[in-house]
Amino acid sequence: MNLEHIKKTDPVVAEQIELELKRQQETIELIASENCTSLAVMEAAGSVLTNKYAEGKPHKRYYNGCEHIDVIEEICQKRACELFGMDHANVQPHSGAQANMAVFMATMKPGDRVLSMDLSNGGHLSHGSPVNFSGMYFDVKSYGINEYGEIDYEDVRKMALEHKPKLIICGASNYSKIIDFKKFREIADEVGALLLADIAHIAGLVAAGLHPSPAPYCDFVTTTTHKSLRGPRGGIIMCKEEYAQAIDKAVFPGMQGGPLEHIIAAKAVALLEASKPEFKDYAAQIIKNAKALAQGLMDEGLDIVGGMTENHLMTLDLRKTGKTGKDMANVLEVVGITANKNTVPNDPQSPFVTSGIRLGTPAVTTRGFKEEDMTEVAKIIAGAIYASDNEQALKNLRERSMKLCKKHPLYAE
Ligand SMILES: *Cc1c(COP(=O)(O)O)cnc(C)c1O
Repeated sequence: MNLEHIKKTDPVVAEQIELELKRQQETIELIASENCTSLAVMEAAGSVLTNKYAEGKPHKRYYNGCEHIDVIEEICQKRACELFGMDHANVQPHSGAQANMAVFMATMKPGDRVLSMDLSNGGHLSHGSPVNFSGMYFDVKSYGINEYGEIDYEDVRKMALEHKPKLIICGASNYSKIIDFKKFREIADEVGALLLADIAHIAGLVAAGLHPSPAPYCDFVTTTTHKSLRGPRGGIIMCKEEYAQAIDKAVFPGMQGGPLEHIIAAKAVALLEASKPEFKDYAAQIIKNAKALAQGLMDEGLDIVGGMTENHLMTLDLRKTGKTGKDMANVLEVVGITANKNTVPNDPQSPFVTSGIRLGTPAVTTRGFKEEDMTEVAKIIAGAIYASDNEQALKNLRERSMKLCKKHPLYAE
């Protein structure tokens, strides 16, 4: 990676970037929401497009000199619509949370009611958490998951009938089963609600046709571009044609200023990459790897919330080991595995401590990890949890994880 100029002007930041590269190269990244973009995506994100103001939409800008920006943003919109099968795309949201905020703004007034998944059951902050804008300004009712780690659609239906929400949100940050968008549509229709699918986590799987698409059923689809979709850090909103204007107005001038056109270019590159046959193979391997990891962990005697995963992630349930998510996420870091603590359903621990660890395979799959590597990762994880106080054992496990990192180099060119 070329840091020639920054090394001269700002060696302090340059050094940290180099150290971060080394950290990424030498650790096994199991944070389910992370990935490693292509160098092509990074070149777009690091390009001269960062210099350009382009408030407005293609061909309707508030600034001059947007002829190339317009081409890029239109290509990005077109690729998003084609890949996900939606009528309209706004590719300007700076992040997934802002994409959701724009849908709230386009569809509701403060105080209106939303039905969404509870944060501690796998939902997202921006779906109505009391500490987020969504929970502060809207009336939020939430559904959860049952003891099998699944959404109880009959429960969602009952809540919808009781609370008559204006907007129903499906999609999650920590849900390991296939989401039935058709069932959500039926529920939304029964109560006259709008339906938003937030596919931030599963976008890469949806793009590859390996998770059912929300397109036939949802009024709005939001996503991040940096998770399984493997693009730059950012968000996209897609919707039916009838909501296009309201969405565009909500993004700008509603809540954002100038779009990040360098990131939009990188989104365009990532969307092209995601439309290729190689990406289908990649997404299929993400799922195979997640299943191999879940099986490996269960073979080691550990519990997974809801048992076998159906997508790219799972939550390790540590309750029977007597250990906490917080401590074990730290122990995993010692053995060279990055993951995050997470609550499990009915967690006896606080959200800061937790009894779970969320694990996902998009990033390691990008590096080339295969099923047999995931089995080894499962053994390293189990070994670290069972021997969390044994320094020598942890050291040996660190060597094994380093071996896997060396076997599958990252950004080696
Ligand atoms: C990650 C995530 C988001 C938010 O994305 P940011 O880019 O971090 O704002 C929104 N919704 C879901 C379901 C997510 O998993």
